[in-house]
Formats: sequence, structure tokens, C-alpha cells
Amino acid sequence: TLSTRYLYTQKEDVQIIASPLSKFSHKGTYGHTYIVGGHYGSIGAIILASKAALRTGCGLVTAYIPACGYSILQSVFPEAQVQTDPLETHISMFPENITDYQAVGIGMGMGTHQDTAGALRKLLEWFRLKPKTPALLFDADAINILAKNPDWHALIPPNSILTPHPKELERLIGSWQEDFEKIEKVRDWSHRHEQIVVIKGANTAIVLPDGTVHFNSTGNPGMATGGSGDVLSGIITSLLAQGHTAVDAALLGVYLHGLAGDIAALSIHEKSITATDIITHLSGAWQHLQ
Ligand code: AMP
Ligand code: MG
Repeated sequence: TLSTRYLYTQKEDVQIIASPLSKFSHKGTYGHTYIVGGHYGSIGAIILASKAALRTGCGLVTAYIPACGYSILQSVFPEAQVQTDPLETHISMFPENITDYQAVGIGMGMGTHQDTAGALRKLLEWFRLKPKTPALLFDADAINILAKNPDWHALIPPNSILTPHPKELERLIGSWQEDFEKIEKVRDWSHRHEQIVVIKGANTAIVLPDGTVHFNSTGNPGMATGGSGDVLSGIITSLLAQGHTAVDAALLGVYLHGLAGDIAALSIHEKSITATDIITHLSGAWQHLQ
């Protein structure tokens, strides 16, 4: 039977998850985040996710994008390493060493081309063959592709994180009449598939496979802006790369993202907040947690 715990995440809950840096660390200590996605016209999603990942504290970020994004990404984000697909416009295959990274966040701005769907299917099959897989986050078009191919869910390693916005969630679980029904449907879905679902929106709900639901207490409507979700994906994937468990990464990541947005709103009107502002204020969010 499912847990019926409904919790409200507050500062003290995430402070124990967040750990201070060690003086004797090097960039390898903090993990290597692998961010996958983008297609022609949507490379910005990967720039945002990669930048957010680095600002969240992982040591290294590699982005995997179609070839058309190479110069753009290297120019605007020199801290990132970039690997490209052989195709210019969309992803058609994945490098086999993807399974060696600590954490992979996949789907932002990726498009749902059938080549991309085929590549995702193959990637899921590789994961099945490996004794140890990276910690995984699926967002945006990765969720859209999975929603069209429900039998692929059986290939996804347990405790992977999905971060759907309302439309993506509807594609995944079908429609709902009111919010309570939505949460109940997701609890059932999360339990059956053994995956963590982050229902994004005001008071983002993190639904765990055991039935527990954690409602987030940070964030503001100014965060309903293009690219905001890509920033969240970068943050959570970075926390996974830093060695946090999937549950801790989801809880802390969602909290930090909302807190960065709240700190941004102190100096920028909610109407004017951009996804880049959320990234900029991640530093303030970390300071607030100390
Ligand atoms: P996406 O639609 O993928 O860009 O994701 C939107 C992001 O903004 C998610 O992290 C949401 O939780 C957040 N967001 C959207 N609307 C609100 C709101 N009204 N209050 C707080 N956060 C929101
Ligand atoms: Mg999104």
C-alpha cells in the first residue's frame, strides 16, 4: 500500500541535504554533469541547463547537442565542454560513453524527431545492459517521446526523475478534473513505474514511488517564463552528479530553483524575471541556505 505522507519542504529540510565544500576538493570531487538536448532553434535550452548545472556546484559540465549548436554554445558558455551529434539539426545518436557519467539530464529543447526518439530508445537499451547507470533526469521532449511510447518506461532505471510541466504531464498520465485527482494519478503512476515525478507549477509537488508527496514552499509566478524549467533540469542533474540521492536532488533542486527566483524578485519585478536571472541568483540561494 502507498504511503499517504504529504509534506511541505522548508528551509530546515533542505539545509541538512546541502553540504559545505571541502577545502581539499578538486573539480573531480563535485562530479561531471552531462546535459543532452537541443535542436535547430532551441539550443538556448541547453545553454540554460548547462549554466544552471555549473552554478549549482558540479565540477564539470558536458553538453551533447546537434552540430548546429556547437559555435553558439562554446561562445556563450566557455566553461562547458561540448560534444555534437553528426547531424546539424537534431540528435540522431548518442555516444556510448554516456553511460560513464555520474548524471545525465536529457530532453530540454530536444525535439521529437523520429531519429531522436530512436536514439533515446537505444540509449535506454544500453542502460539495461550496464550494471551501473548514471543517475537520470528526463525533461521536456524526452518526456514527450516517452509519453508516445509507454512500453519504454520499463527500460528506465528505477528512481529516475521526470520533470513535466502541466502539458507534458497530461501527455504522460492523461487528463484530470482537479488537482487532487492529478496528484493521485501521479502517485499511482510513480509507484507503478518506480520513478520520481516532479509536478512543476506553483508549489511544485515531488511524488515518490512509495506514495510520499513533497510540496515545495519557494518560488513565485515570475518564474513562469521561457527556459525556467530548463534551469531546474540543470540544477537537479548537477546535484545528482554531486552524489546526492535522487530524492535529495529533487527536493533540494526544486527548493533552490524557487529560492533563486524569490531572491531575483527582490530586485527584479516578477514580470521581468528571466530564466537567466534565476541562474544568476543561484549563488544567493546557496548563501541563504548556509
Ligand atoms: P517549464 O514550463 O518547463 O519552463 O517549467 C516552468 C518552471 O517554472 C517550473 O520549475 C515551474 O515550477 C515554475 N513555475 C511555473 N509557474 C509557476 C508559478 N505560478 N509559481 C512558481 N513557479 C512556477
Ligand atoms: Mg520545460
